[in-house]
Amino acid sequence: MTEDLETFRAETRAWLEANCPPEMRQPVRSDKDINWGGRNPVFQPGQKEWMDAMAGRGWTVPDWPQAYGGGGLSPAQTKILREEMRKLGCRNPLNSFGISMLGPALLKYGTEEQKREHLPRIARGEIRWCQGYSEPNAGSDLAGLATSAEDKGDHFLVNGQKVWTSYADKADWIFCLVRTDKSTKQGGISFLLFDMETPGVSTRPILLISGYSPFCETFFDDVKVPKGNLLGELNKGWDVAKYLLGHEREMISGMGNEGGNKSLHAIARDKVGLTEDGKLADPLLRAQMALFEVRTRAFGAMSERFMDELKAGRAHPAQPSMMKYYGTELNKTRNELMMAAGGSDLLEWESDASNGGAAARAWLRTKANSIEGGTSEIQLNIIAKRILQLPGA
Ligand SMILES: Cc1cc2nc3c(=O)[nH]c(=O)nc-3n(C[C@H](O)[C@H](O)[C@H](O)COP(=O)(O)OP(=O)(O)OC[C@H]3O[C@@H](n4cnc5c(N)ncnc54)[C@H](O)[C@@H]3O)c2cc1C
Repeated sequence: MTEDLETFRAETRAWLEANCPPEMRQPVRSDKDINWGGRNPVFQPGQKEWMDAMAGRGWTVPDWPQAYGGGGLSPAQTKILREEMRKLGCRNPLNSFGISMLGPALLKYGTEEQKREHLPRIARGEIRWCQGYSEPNAGSDLAGLATSAEDKGDHFLVNGQKVWTSYADKADWIFCLVRTDKSTKQGGISFLLFDMETPGVSTRPILLISGYSPFCETFFDDVKVPKGNLLGELNKGWDVAKYLLGHEREMISGMGNEGGNKSLHAIARDKVGLTEDGKLADPLLRAQMALFEVRTRAFGAMSERFMDELKAGRAHPAQPSMMKYYGTELNKTRNELMMAAGGSDLLEWESDASNGGAAARAWLRTKANSIEGGTSEIQLNIIAKRILQLPGA
């Protein structure tokens, strides 16, 4: 078995070396370097070749079954693939809510027909999905959502509004929570999939403090959705929604490990300088960075254990809340330290030297980490209740 894995590692490395274009081995510098696929993608050099090569082997979704466009790899092989990609500095070939959120829910709750229709297209990056959960009066209290889907025989008629729908204006399809029974809260929600080009769907971007506008208000006005687009059972969408949220929180927690701390160390060395014995010259920053380094390594070890437990089906269902809470705290601290080390130079908003204010924009974006996918307060409530079993929680 170990020998098989060693062979797999050697073959994987050789294949990556031969097929990963040089441009795709550079660190991600801006949003443009991230490939989301979809019907109308704008590819940077090397992006499409890299995505197609990986999709051809099922390696955009290495652990999904081959029948649905995946690689059919075991958890151990998947881990090796990721390790080898990291070693060579290969970029993620495809970023996608379809992969990290909807796919797992489709695999668990989808009919065979739904799996065959949607999963291969997600794996090949042909369809870009967005998430229609939050509404103006239903964020943390998500089950209070009001967008309605009326049964019209062969279709549902959807009316209502969503908010904070990330990339809704660029997405091709939406996975959407709708109310199909008004007499009960959680028990009256269903989970629908539909094309954003369906008549009656419109979006309006919301401008952020970072200067970007990645998310939208989304409106549904008499949108006809075929009955076959219901995922899971009628009025049982809350189960699908919670399962998907676990995967979303796991994905967001990955920010805790993002890019190691190399750029932080480099910035601190360049800006603050070193003492004669090679220590960072600012003792306060040095202490903060040491503490941060210890916490990142502990989180890295915890993430690895969690992923192993998850693949083996032994993870506690509330564990993604722990990971999400801590991973996002770490990412915020990483960016705070970066700004502390870099000083006013990094606050520059628009210039070639600052790459369009990349560091300042990234720092501001981290402020949303503890809100998106469920706020930190809500994660702490879940941890208190479901993991620590605290009285009154
Ligand atoms: C960058 C970003 C991207 C997002 N993308 C999407 C998306 O693609 N699709 C989508 O559907 N949604 C998306 N969201 C929305 C996100 O899921 C909600 O913002 C989040 O669930 C919080 O809801 P809210 O904004 O309504 O805040 P509220 O629920 O109004 O919360 C306000 C404050 O009150 C606290 N609070 C609320 N209830 C409790 C409680 N019971 N106990 C303790 N404290 C509480 C909260 O923690 C928070 O601090 C995104 C949000 C962000 C920031």
